[in-house]
Amino acid sequence: MQYDALVASIRLVGVSKHFGDVKAVDNVSLDIADRDFMILLGPSGCGKSTLLRTIAGLEDPTAGEVWIGDNMVNDVEPKNRDVSMVFQSYALYPHKSVQANIEFPLKVRGVNKTERAEAAKQAAEVLGLTPYLERRPGALSGGQRQRVALARAIVRQPAVFCMDEPLSNLDAKLRAETRAELVALHDRLNATFVYVTHDQVEAMTMGNRIAVMRDGIIEQVGSPKEVYDKPASVFVAQFIGTPPMNIFPAGSVEAADHVVGARPEHTHLTTSGVAATVALVEHLGHEIQVVCTIDAEHRAIVRIPAGTEVPGNGSSVFLTADENYRHRFNVETGLRIS
Ligand code: ATP
Repeated sequence: MQYDALVASIRLVGVSKHFGDVKAVDNVSLDIADRDFMILLGPSGCGKSTLLRTIAGLEDPTAGEVWIGDNMVNDVEPKNRDVSMVFQSYALYPHKSVQANIEFPLKVRGVNKTERAEAAKQAAEVLGLTPYLERRPGALSGGQRQRVALARAIVRQPAVFCMDEPLSNLDAKLRAETRAELVALHDRLNATFVYVTHDQVEAMTMGNRIAVMRDGIIEQVGSPKEVYDKPASVFVAQFIGTPPMNIFPAGSVEAADHVVGARPEHTHLTTSGVAATVALVEHLGHEIQVVCTIDAEHRAIVRIPAGTEVPGNGSSVFLTADENYRHRFNVETGLRIS
């Protein structure tokens, strides 16, 4: 199943959505290209769902313009936006069969029975649901139900898919599998995906671009590699990457007029450097993570190959940040110094 030409770019121009005093989205401008897999990433409450819902037309922006393709859609009803929304909760009809659930968006649009059945079968095939078409949702696993929700979203062949944490109800293994399925689905459908998550692993592995949000604004937009290698701020540096980037106290590594950051793989236990105390040693099988406390506000994690001897809890150690991989940020603003 391949959708033809029907794809769309999205342009947000100065979009705000305020709920009383709460600036859920504050003057956001963002270009999402045709066929992008764009991730809106950020902590709980940063405004990513509100921004997604504004694109889908489920929220009216307080200010700004939403464009899909060549059309300004601020006044266009959600159902006329050529956007399909997939939520965290599958919201399937329990008394309808899988096939009837998938067909439903076409039924409400008055598509005839034969065409509906054909479209549902195609969507089911894309998502590996053909053997389950006659079953009720209650007789499916969580992952299968999630795929029914996806099939229901693709059956209409929209130009844009808006997805709000669709994998968060799945266990870790199923999440990893469904992540891969979604990437394959994106490649297959050639549609534009806008995907909300607070999980940076999902963001890094699925998106071709990531918009990192904080307090209603976008801190950085870039490819996964760009946001990882060149985070625009301390916030992004610590939100992307597990474990997060280590941030050293100003003046402890370099001059006190800026802050130095280093990823755990670029931070080393050495015989001189920044004094710290080992707080916790975590043996993860493939590697060891040594969590060190520098002072009341700063801790740093060092990644060490499995099998290496490491100092125990409470040991005094010294840390260095690899000179070739240091990130420098403004002390006041936390913004990257290029
Ligand atoms: P989460 O990951 O927890 O879903 P989020 O980043 O998607 O968070 P939003 O749901 O967009 O965040 O909410 C952003 C802010 O707007 C929050 O402070 C939230 O409380 C507020 N908010 C969202 N919807 C409403 C509403 N209908 N009325 C009032 N405040 C709202």
